[in-house]
Amino acid sequence: MSGDKHIFAIMEHIQGAIKPGSFEVLTASRLLADQMGGQVFAVYLGPESESEIDCESLIQYGADRVLILRHSALASYTVSAYLEALLPVIESRHPEVVLLSASIHGKELAAALSARLKTGLGSDCISLDFNSAEGLTIRRPVNSGKAISTLVYDSTRPQIATLRANVFRGAGPDASRSGQVECIEVQISENSLSLKVKEVVQETGRNLDISEARIVVSGGLGMQNAGNFKLLQDLADVLGAAVGASRPVVDDGWRDYSNQVGQTGRTVSPDLYIACGISGAVQHLAGMSFSNCIVAINKDPNAPIFSVADYGIVGDALEVLPLLTSEFREVLNA
Ligand SMILES: Cc1cc2nc3c(=O)[nH]c(=O)nc-3n(C[C@H](O)[C@H](O)[C@H](O)COP(=O)(O)OP(=O)(O)OC[C@H]3O[C@@H](n4cnc5c(N)ncnc54)[C@H](O)[C@@H]3O)c2cc1C
Repeated sequence: MSGDKHIFAIMEHIQGAIKPGSFEVLTASRLLADQMGGQVFAVYLGPESESEIDCESLIQYGADRVLILRHSALASYTVSAYLEALLPVIESRHPEVVLLSASIHGKELAAALSARLKTGLGSDCISLDFNSAEGLTIRRPVNSGKAISTLVYDSTRPQIATLRANVFRGAGPDASRSGQVECIEVQISENSLSLKVKEVVQETGRNLDISEARIVVSGGLGMQNAGNFKLLQDLADVLGAAVGASRPVVDDGWRDYSNQVGQTGRTVSPDLYIACGISGAVQHLAGMSFSNCIVAINKDPNAPIFSVADYGIVGDALEVLPLLTSEFREVLNA
């Protein structure tokens, strides 16, 4: 059976720079391919040629083949161009499984692929397994993270899944791995593009994407005002972290919506989540309770956030944060 059940791992990139979540997709694909006895294809869509793509890293992270689907219309992600490029390749090569990041683009593309291919989609997976009787089995949080559901697919193929960030890290690159690179000049007709990207404006400032960051420092209404978020940013800068926020903070315009963690915001699962002046409402927990380590700073010892925290500091965040920042700065500089 070896080589029969291929996995397409769809890469996300910004002008050729592969996003960290895509390396996790490759890591997960490799583990799955080893169980299934198949090959991993890192599928890269863009105008770049082989020499402009870090194919070596893709192979080291688990790809047996790098499949470049090349067209100028793929310079920026749009669902219509990506579909037009991907569908014929999926239909001709019959991958058993297609894996994508559970990012904004990944979720959109997965849903569109699943609708067009009339096949099953598992979203926001935290584990994947394969057995010959049932095929792919996935597990994903449901009910705002209060339960985990296990799903199997019907007989349609490919089985499509999006993977939650920071869950499938694996051992990292393996320099001894080798693989092949193949480039296909795909056809995309101008008429089929329902959307065209006119301009991409890079966000200014030091903001990391909260769903990909390994450390998130988040603030709630307990931070008192927008200006006090500087204390969170200072700590985040020292730790190389992203700054998150609760919903009322975003509603009040203290932070951008892209910072919102929770049921109606982003889902994060970093190594470390530091919640400052956040009460721990169930809708907030829905977006962060899968973090590996949770530290809560709150004035109220009975705040619900302490029930999910690994470490709790009962105190005024406005006083505790500068102390933490200076301690971390000293320790990390040493
Ligand atoms: C349908 C729906 C969807 C929602 N989606 C989301 C969502 O995605 N994300 C989200 O966050 N919320 C969401 N909410 C809102 C949620 O229910 C809570 O209202 C919200 O999370 C509370 O935010 P908070 O913890 O910042 O504020 P509060 O609940 O007001 O808590 C502030 C906390 O700060 C503490 N505090 C005060 N001063 C200090 C200080 N100086 N130092 C330390 N601690 C201090 C207080 O003790 C308190 O615990 C949603 C609600 C609904 C109904």
